[in-house]
Amino acid sequence: MKILMINLPYAGHVVPTIGLIQQLIQKGCHVTYLMPEDWQSRISESGADFVGYPNHPQLSEQMKNAWSMAEKIVDEYDLVLYEQFFFLGKHLADKYHKPAVRIFTAPATNQKLMQEYIQSGPLSIFRYRWIAHAFTKDIAKGIPLKTDNWLDEIIENPPALNLVYTLKEFQPYVDEFDQNMYQFIGPSVYQREKQEFDFIKKDRPVIYISLGTIVKGAASFFKMCIEAFEHEDVDVIISTGKKFNLNKLKHVPENIHLYNYVPQLQVLKMSDVFVTHGGMNSVSEAFVYNVPQVVIPFSSDQPVNGQCVEKIGAGKQLSLSALNKDILKNTVFSVMNDTEIKKNLKKIRNLICESAGNEGAAEMIIEVIRRKGD
Ligand code: UDP
Repeated sequence: MKILMINLPYAGHVVPTIGLIQQLIQKGCHVTYLMPEDWQSRISESGADFVGYPNHPQLSEQMKNAWSMAEKIVDEYDLVLYEQFFFLGKHLADKYHKPAVRIFTAPATNQKLMQEYIQSGPLSIFRYRWIAHAFTKDIAKGIPLKTDNWLDEIIENPPALNLVYTLKEFQPYVDEFDQNMYQFIGPSVYQREKQEFDFIKKDRPVIYISLGTIVKGAASFFKMCIEAFEHEDVDVIISTGKKFNLNKLKHVPENIHLYNYVPQLQVLKMSDVFVTHGGMNSVSEAFVYNVPQVVIPFSSDQPVNGQCVEKIGAGKQLSLSALNKDILKNTVFSVMNDTEIKKNLKKIRNLICESAGNEGAAEMIIEVIRRKGD
């Protein structure tokens, strides 16, 4: 069985898929992963063959380049697998008479949720429908779409099987999704390569703070974190993001440990509480490692994820605009010591163990190919 996986160059949309590709390969499938050329080494962990397309800073050009390269090779494959952000995946599969399966690395989207997502962050430009139309027209030259807006296309033109990397208990508006088409497979749990990390845990709590890989310009937030915890008997690990100049933070006390990037799963394993921007991967990874969360959303899907973390009882959400060092400190300590949250985390962990995960998802994909062959 030959599978073509197509994705765009955004870490959060790629990282969870690696575990699924590993499972497909273990079950005897041959997988080719289509990504921009500069992603080859990061994709190699999956064991898939790599085919590159030219990278570009603009999303529209990335989509066009991915489509062009996919068209050249798709005929050789039995199935098209794609992350939802590459909204042309279904069109490609239809055009070449292949079955298609879609992956959501964030909760599945309907119109209500999409409206919430585009209120802030990089996608907020598409609140203006004329911009969304122009963007869509530019990409879809010669490709007959169902709608004239790529965000509507994601919602209104789904393939028969959609694999969503979250628990159904976490999915907003879950009852509005057809449960035959949308499978909530839980977070992507798989063995990652162990990385060097020099922090040694002492006999006191560890607070881990990260805003993920996309949030920029958070110097004042990190300063506030330092001021909140510098006199407390805790260790604080802060991952600032790769582009952040650590010299911007002067006079860093001995209990605050600054890094541009950390092996997050290794850090979560030793953390007592996680202060996160609420990116879907970070939220899921904290579930997997039983770590209570304080979510401080910045944009996009993060406010929705923050609400869901509160609803499922895994932590608290704070508003960035109303934040100060005392609110941060008090909330972090109260969440860290909350026995109810600890109980809920155990329940969530059990739900994750019962969910289909990457292994179950791989079986569902193989079944789609088998049915097509019957
Ligand atoms: N991550 C990491 N080390 C860091 C910061 C982030 O390994 O220092 C990983 C994290 O484990 C997660 C991803 O980067 O898998 C961030 O994805 P998320 O969806 O949470 O946020 P985004 O970066 O997409 O905003």
